[in-house]
Formats: sequence, C-alpha cells, structure tokens
Amino acid sequence: MANTIISVNNLVKHYGQFQAVKGISFDVFEGEIFGLLGPNGAGKSTTLEIIETLREKTSGTVTVDGYDLDKQPQAIKNIIGVQLQTSGYYPGLNLLQLIELFCGLYNRDVDPMVLLDMVNLKDKAKSKVKELSGGQRQRFSVATTLINDPRIIFLDEPTTGLDPQARRSLWELISKIRDRGTTVIITTHYMDEAEYLCDRVAIIDAGKIIGLDTPDKMIDNLVASGFERPKEMKMANLEDVFIHLTGHSLRED
Ligand code: ADP
Ligand code: MG
Repeated sequence: MANTIISVNNLVKHYGQFQAVKGISFDVFEGEIFGLLGPNGAGKSTTLEIIETLREKTSGTVTVDGYDLDKQPQAIKNIIGVQLQTSGYYPGLNLLQLIELFCGLYNRDVDPMVLLDMVNLKDKAKSKVKELSGGQRQRFSVATTLINDPRIIFLDEPTTGLDPQARRSLWELISKIRDRGTTVIITTHYMDEAEYLCDRVAIIDAGKIIGLDTPDKMIDNLVASGFERPKEMKMANLEDVFIHLTGHSLRED
C-alpha cells in the first residue's frame, strides 16, 4: 500500500466572514501526482499555500511527512519545493546565476547545468527570465522547486496560459519528476490535464471536496451510474489535430 505523505484533516480557512475552505480532508500518497481540480475561486491556492506553510489556517490539522504544521513548520519547509517568483526580483541575472543564487539561499550545492538540463533549458543558461517563452519560464520555475532536493513539490496552475505544445512538454517534465520519486501536488482547472497527468484527483468547488479518486475510477463510476455522453465520442479532438499539424514531437518552445 502507498504511504501517506500529506494528511489534511478538516481544514478550514476564513478570510474575515468569507469561508474560502470549508472543512476539507484528504491524503496524498508518496510518489504520486495529486491534483486539486476546481474552478477559479474554489480554494485551491489557499489550500496549497496553507500546506506550504505560507498562509495561516483557521482550523484543522495538516501533517507533512510526519511533521505537524503547527509544531514543526520549519521541518516541513526543509522537505518541500515551492515555486519561487523569479521574474521581477532579479531581472539582471541569467538562469544560471539565478539558480546559483537560490542554491546559496538554500545552502545547497547542486550543479545548475544538471538542473537546467533536467528541465531542457541548458541552451538558455545565459538567458534572462524575460527572454524566455511562457513554457520555458514555467519549466524554469519548476526547476527552482527542485533546488533543495525536496520530497514533495507544489505547483499552482503551472500550465495556465500555455499553448498545447508547451503544456505537453510541462506534463512530461512533471511526470519525469514523479518517476524519480518526488511527490507532486498540483492545482489545475483543466480537466484534460488532471485526467492525463494526475494519479489521483480531488475535485474542489466552493471550498469543499466533492469527489476524490483516480481519474479512471471517477469516470468508471459515472458510466456505471448510467451516464451517457449526449454525442458520440470521436477518436481525436481538435487539440490532437493541432498537435499533429504543428509537429508530432514536442517542440522546444
Ligand atoms: P483558487 O486558487 O481555487 O482560484 P483561492 O484559494 O485563490 O482559489 O481563493 C478562494 C476564495 O478565497 C476566492 O473567493 C478568493 O477571492 C478568496 N480569497 C483568496 N485570498 C484571499 C484574501 N487574501 N483575502 C480575502 N479573500 C481571499
Ligand atoms: Mg489559485
């Protein structure tokens, strides 16, 4: 059986009178890609940032790799990777220099070129963040989550606004990180992304979890309940056509 690495119990978050998160509970298993899938305003980022120790909760308990969020937030910080805001802060530095800077902040000794190679940005080592495409920027942002060799990384809507090729390239990267043994928790409002990428998904709406399972199981359950699609499914969709026409292989975006 899979080990539980994150356990969230009855988590509540109020912003003044407004209840953004209304008592949610879920476990994340070690080595999986766990998705929080929901529309804008559902409470995804709030939930993620509480687990990341970046936001105060109103009530509930959170345990990360055995550490209680209330008692050992620093221990949690040490084993997680969060996306750092790279644009804006140090506009004069190139990717290599930024990674070196973050290595210093984390007191880690990683080879920046190995990390850039991992995210397919070795050619861009001397470029600045502002010179990157949207997809490259996101891959660099993912690279920054890996600097402290974390057990878990957190990605908040990493593919929002990217074109199909860049999204697929990011999906490959995230799968690769999972396959190396890192647990990934990701938020998205894209159904296809959750279905393709996530091992398990919690569907969250208006601060509540309304479904949690593997994408396959959720689809099977819906079909077993007698649901039928009004229109016959085609074997491909327009995105497949687009990817086919613009090039089969993942492009260096
Ligand atoms: P999601 O990431 O799913 O889009 P968020 O967690 O960002 O949702 O926000 C959930 C709800 O909480 C939204 O209605 C949002 O407007 C509200 N909210 C988020 N942050 C704050 C804040 N700092 N103060 C007040 N309300 C907030
Ligand atoms: Mg959000």
